[in-house]
Amino acid sequence: MRSLLFDAPYGAGLPDVEGLRQRLRGELVEPGGPSYEAARRVWNGAVDKRPALIAYCTGADDVIAAIGFARSTGMLLAVRSGGHNVAGNCVCDGGLVIDLSRMKGISVDPQMRVVRAEAGLTLGEFDAATQAYGLATTMGVNGDTGIAGLTLGGGFGKLGRRFGLACDNLLAADVVTADGRLVRASSTENSDLFWGLRGGGGNFGVVTAFEYRLHPVGPDVLVGSFVYDQAQARDALRAYYAFSRAAPDEVSADAALVTAPSGERLFSISVCYSGPLEAGERTIVPLRSLCKPIEEKIAPVPYLQVQSAGDAVFPRGRRYYWKAQFLREITDAAIDALVEAYAAAPSVTALAVLQQVGGAIARVPATDTAYAARDAAYDCFPIAIWDDPADDAANMMWARQVWTAMRPFSTGAVYVNNLGDEGEDRIRAAYGPNYARLVALKNKYDPENLFRLNQNIRPKRGNES
Ligand SMILES: Cc1cc2nc3c(=O)[nH]c(=O)nc-3n(C[C@H](O)[C@H](O)[C@H](O)COP(=O)(O)OP(=O)(O)OC[C@H]3O[C@@H](n4cnc5c(N)ncnc54)[C@H](O)[C@@H]3O)c2cc1C
Repeated sequence: MRSLLFDAPYGAGLPDVEGLRQRLRGELVEPGGPSYEAARRVWNGAVDKRPALIAYCTGADDVIAAIGFARSTGMLLAVRSGGHNVAGNCVCDGGLVIDLSRMKGISVDPQMRVVRAEAGLTLGEFDAATQAYGLATTMGVNGDTGIAGLTLGGGFGKLGRRFGLACDNLLAADVVTADGRLVRASSTENSDLFWGLRGGGGNFGVVTAFEYRLHPVGPDVLVGSFVYDQAQARDALRAYYAFSRAAPDEVSADAALVTAPSGERLFSISVCYSGPLEAGERTIVPLRSLCKPIEEKIAPVPYLQVQSAGDAVFPRGRRYYWKAQFLREITDAAIDALVEAYAAAPSVTALAVLQQVGGAIARVPATDTAYAARDAAYDCFPIAIWDDPADDAANMMWARQVWTAMRPFSTGAVYVNNLGDEGEDRIRAAYGPNYARLVALKNKYDPENLFRLNQNIRPKRGNES
């Protein structure tokens, strides 16, 4: 019988890889093995890292063994669930990857409206399992995103304005801490850790399972799709702002500047109404009259279909780069800046996205959870998508230019899950008033910074101020 506490006698000698393999119930993948090339890949094709070991964990005991191995060898440690984060911190060169993607257990309690979900689930899998009971909770807009990284950073989605962020619906989590203990975090157990997990990312431990509150949703929601041509872009953006800022919490309205395959620039609005369908019709229809679209459709759509609608736009393996910031309002000057900056997009696949937040998200006090940017109304980010490494510089430069053009209109804060490798100032900006408390929590739970391949909250050393 395997002990849950890691106690391997790894010393100063060579890493005992065979010892780790013996301890794991899951597979240990090494360079040269038949599955290594696929195993080291992540969603963002621009991330090209070569870990020394990839441990496919099957339970908390495997995670404990892998953490013990990393600690005793001093090996760099990355943690991967959906492998979807744009920054690619879930893999590393030469280190150990703890991979939870094979941990897909999920169990719904329809009476209590609670779900227990293991960390390797994608949100497509999570949504399918909960919708079988007519239930859902806030998850993002792309089906193969991991629930783990999404929830730990906050978690926006079509239901966010009605029910709060994914992390606002988190009731408890099982966590393996840096010292190899399996603990439960909730409002009554390790409540400081529970606070940090709700937005603080992977800084405090490896979460093996999450428990969420669920809500009756669907099976259909009402979706309004509106497309405008280039000449209408400014008016349509004004219409989007007027409509979305006055919308009830059941509405989630996202928008994007996009390019048709013909090269024509377009603007599109996608409205999702998650309440009763008739009320949704009355709510969405007025958007038509604010600016007449060239194409429109308002129709009930299965919630599951809405949740996977973006999948084709963001397939695994292409190269991606984005740079995000929050807006509180969309002024005429901001509209001009966005439309002008988008016009220089280097490819037809480039987008400039506005994702609506606010509503129930904004009614949680900023210091109640590690996630702090409660006053934001929109997440604004250019997304560059391309395939040829020779185009890296042009695409990344364009996204940075759009970000710079929008900087005067930003709240200054950023969604931690949309951060790339942007430095400590941006991480501080993500956490605002909560940063000092996060550092204190890091000192308590991970003083050696074992979990540092993330948007890192650095622990404070003795004499640092
Ligand atoms: C196309 C696309 C669409 C997106 N849409 C949305 C959206 O609608 N709403 C939204 O909120 N976000 C969205 N995101 C952002 C998404 O929330 C983050 O990329 C998130 O980190 C993905 O989680 P993952 O488990 O797939 O990531 P991974 O890349 O596996 O992990 C990211 C980081 O999270 C940490 N981590 C992962 N698993 C664990 C774990 N089990 N325990 C502890 N730490 C862990 C690690 O630090 C890791 O580096 C989107 C991203 C993409 C690429």
